[in-house]
Amino acid sequence: MYVDLTMAVGPGTAVFPGYPRPAVLQWSKIDVHGYYSNVLFFPEHVATHVDSPAHFVPGAKTVDQLDLSKFFGRFVAVDLSHLPPRASIGLKQFEEALPRGVELGPGWVVLIRTGYDAYAGTDKWLEHPDLSPELAEHLAKLGVNAVGVDAPSPDHAPFEIHKILLSREVLIYENLTNLAAVVGRSGQFIGLPVKVAGGSGAPVRAVALV
Ligand SMILES: [Zn+2]
Repeated sequence: MYVDLTMAVGPGTAVFPGYPRPAVLQWSKIDVHGYYSNVLFFPEHVATHVDSPAHFVPGAKTVDQLDLSKFFGRFVAVDLSHLPPRASIGLKQFEEALPRGVELGPGWVVLIRTGYDAYAGTDKWLEHPDLSPELAEHLAKLGVNAVGVDAPSPDHAPFEIHKILLSREVLIYENLTNLAAVVGRSGQFIGLPVKVAGGSGAPVRAVALV
């Protein structure tokens, strides 16, 4: 079964403070031009997207330079949606939430459900929990491919978690949605980004194959 973990991109999509909202301009109409199409304008970091190392690490890989294998992986989805606003997710807390028998290692994709996708566009959206540096270091050491959250970010300014993960080429998926549908299940995660030349990140269609 395929589970869609992707937020739609459109004029109503919530964006991180400081970014412009997506604009969708109708470019052609079937009754006028014979075909329907739109022109899109939006940030690289819109809706469900991946951050590539170059987003925070000078000289590191841009989204078009990453090995394709990085965008796939066996996933585990951990439910931490009970945490208070701005909680810091500790290593012990994470490990207690991991399903029994899961041995994380190179190539895995770790999905963390905060439940904050439900607050997209509100002030509460930005009060999401963060990964602790200790947890990020642990995941980087394990060599996982990526960490994904259903919040706009795995951290707040000064974005220490971004730096820990991206400097070790652990990709970050942000604004995933529908993670409740994959908590407790196992399978393959696929998050292929648009191949933006020199991009710091790009929107993805994130899917779990369970
Ligand atoms: Zn981002």
